[in-house]
Amino acid sequence: MASKFVIPPPKPGSTRALTQKDLQTARSLVSFPLEPMTETIFGSVQDYERKQYLLNLVMKEPLFAKHDRFHGSREDRLLRALAMTKRLVELRDENNLSDADMHLVRQLVDETIPMSLHEGMFLPVLRAQASPEQAKHWLPLAESYQMIGSYAQTELAHGSNLSGLETTATYIPETDEFEIHSPDITACKWWIGSLGLISTHTLVQAKLILKGKDYGPHLFLVPLRSLDDHKPFPGVTVGDIGKKMGFNLIDNGFLMFEHYKIPRTNMLMRFAQVTRKGEYVKPPHAKLAYGGMVFVRTALVRLAGGSLAKAATIGTRYACVRRQFHVMNANKQVAGVSSSEETPIIMYPMVQARMFPRIAESYAMLFAAQGIEAMYQDMVKRLDSFDVSTLPAVHANSSALKAYCTGIALDGIEEIRRATGGHGFMMSSGLPYLLFNYSPSVTFEGENALLTQQTARYLLKQLHKHQTQAEPLHPFVEYLELISSGVGRKSDRTAAVSSPADWFNPAVQLAAFAHRAARVTGELAHAITQCGTPFADLNVECARASKAHSEYVLVRTFHSTTRKILQDKPALYPVLKLVSDVFALNTIEKSIGDFAEDGYLVHAHVKHLRAALKTALQDMMKDAVGLVDAWAFSDYELDSTIGRSDGKVYEALLETALADPVNKGMNGKAVSLGYEQYIRPLVKGERLQKKSKL
Ligand SMILES: Cc1cc2nc3c(=O)[nH]c(=O)nc-3n(C[C@H](O)[C@H](O)[C@H](O)COP(=O)(O)OP(=O)(O)OC[C@H]3O[C@@H](n4cnc5c(N)ncnc54)[C@H](O)[C@@H]3O)c2cc1C
Repeated sequence: MASKFVIPPPKPGSTRALTQKDLQTARSLVSFPLEPMTETIFGSVQDYERKQYLLNLVMKEPLFAKHDRFHGSREDRLLRALAMTKRLVELRDENNLSDADMHLVRQLVDETIPMSLHEGMFLPVLRAQASPEQAKHWLPLAESYQMIGSYAQTELAHGSNLSGLETTATYIPETDEFEIHSPDITACKWWIGSLGLISTHTLVQAKLILKGKDYGPHLFLVPLRSLDDHKPFPGVTVGDIGKKMGFNLIDNGFLMFEHYKIPRTNMLMRFAQVTRKGEYVKPPHAKLAYGGMVFVRTALVRLAGGSLAKAATIGTRYACVRRQFHVMNANKQVAGVSSSEETPIIMYPMVQARMFPRIAESYAMLFAAQGIEAMYQDMVKRLDSFDVSTLPAVHANSSALKAYCTGIALDGIEEIRRATGGHGFMMSSGLPYLLFNYSPSVTFEGENALLTQQTARYLLKQLHKHQTQAEPLHPFVEYLELISSGVGRKSDRTAAVSSPADWFNPAVQLAAFAHRAARVTGELAHAITQCGTPFADLNVECARASKAHSEYVLVRTFHSTTRKILQDKPALYPVLKLVSDVFALNTIEKSIGDFAEDGYLVHAHVKHLRAALKTALQDMMKDAVGLVDAWAFSDYELDSTIGRSDGKVYEALLETALADPVNKGMNGKAVSLGYEQYIRPLVKGERLQKKSKL
């Protein structure tokens, strides 16, 4: 047998030796202390330490190793995902892990697996919408995994349009039961995570029918599979929907019912109720049930920041060690790299323009997540006493931010993948898997384009109330004030900018976002009230208003975080101010037409903006690696050959290829897979020999 190829140590001065040195050099130039930054991101030292504790717990487990995560058929991978689910529940019990711990653990493991929807949707909705008696009965079973559940809303023919759902739940007073029924295959529940294999129960959204009257969709806890042998009950047809673009370790399922009976008390009755006589008791507030949805959207804002941060970490580290060409430019001069050395790609302005705004966006989203989480916690406390006063603002802002943040995170991950060139296309880079698995975030929990309509409705309502009833504005929509003073109908103001330096003034930045948000919302209102355009014909304008609102909220939150940092951790202020500038200026630049359309920005303003952004990006170079290191992703979490913390990119790429099952564990010395059957007949000319004999 031929001897295996072994990667030799790098020769001094070689490209490989440089990669490790490059990352060390980049780190030595970082201008701020990392630990306080990490603490700021995590919220507290305890939170960071808790993550490290959980990381150690997970990394010890062979089941959660990532080196072979892409190998095997879908069936093999699903079996492994089930094994992971079982082990995670054991770990939870052995180590007394909380829900928050488990949420983090699932992120560390970085796979959406059959337990994900049980913990991410089934349990929170049950907690939020089951009556106290129901919760007392069901929660202990669900929390101990003796009842495993999912959330079944979407059907083959309807998803976003909840009122179009066809599954019915008809009350039968004689037996005190609901009959759950799918009248056609279009009513087949579809996409339901954790349903295909693991669910014993599911929460079904079905039209409530009482005495022939349709009361619209309500939630029912429906047993699906026997607790003895997991067989689907008669009347239940259930299975896995098959392979998807990503998310292939979770059992998204389909489900149909044939006149299937459940007890009346299986309707979730914390808010709406059905009495023994089949009478409907309305919820005290129509939107009380929105709490669970808001929770998930809020979590998705943090996940958006975290996912883009991961990609940005991989991209930035790789950009520090990857060298191409000997081009001499200003960045290279500033960094003191000699012209005889190849240029690290991080020094190319185009690479900076593609990567650094992604770092800034990640920071912006992580800070916004902290803000919206605090708003959510406050809302939950109030809902306990049926105080729904803050619900509209939290609902609208979580919807707006979910749509905006998941959108820029997905775009950003792909931008970074492209900016890393060929190696970013390797699965082992970590970027394609991140991209595929992150993709559906823009679709589930409210399709993004549709969510923007909800935000727009909220903005219009706030504007109307403010203008007609002088109702005070929530701080996030303070800019609507500008509409009363004329913005949105005529161009009467311009940016207070006469040099690039002016763009570094937070007040100037926020004024631009406020002006633009007011203008687009004002125009939307004008189209409806003055031109009589139906709301349904204004989808694009709604999306524009929602985007403008989200950007205003993100910039405003970033500014307030930076101001607080100046008080609490002044050593971080300069770099965070810079990152905040990059976020604000780049965000304006991306939608420059929106800001310039009514003359608020003129040619000189735009010229100064681009100059300011260019300077800010150059200034960010020295801190880029520190900014991504501060997120404290372990190599285990990144699972990336090109984003390794030690910079040994080329060794990692080759090692992964050598170990690939296609190479039969022979380290590049094997006779190729398929040689006997397909390659040998070709190269031996067997086909030609047969022909000549004829
Ligand atoms: C990976 C994944 C996991 C999922 N998990 C679950 C789950 O566990 N449980 C569950 O119930 N569902 C789940 N879903 C389903 C998901 O919630 C829906 O796919 C999502 O809500 C979008 O609905 P839809 O597919 O009906 O899209 P559609 O509503 O059909 O949207 C298609 C297009 O039409 C546009 N559109 C629709 N209506 C309007 C309108 N009024 N105005 C303007 N444009 C419009 C949309 O913007 C979009 O561009 C999952 C989906 C995915 C991809």
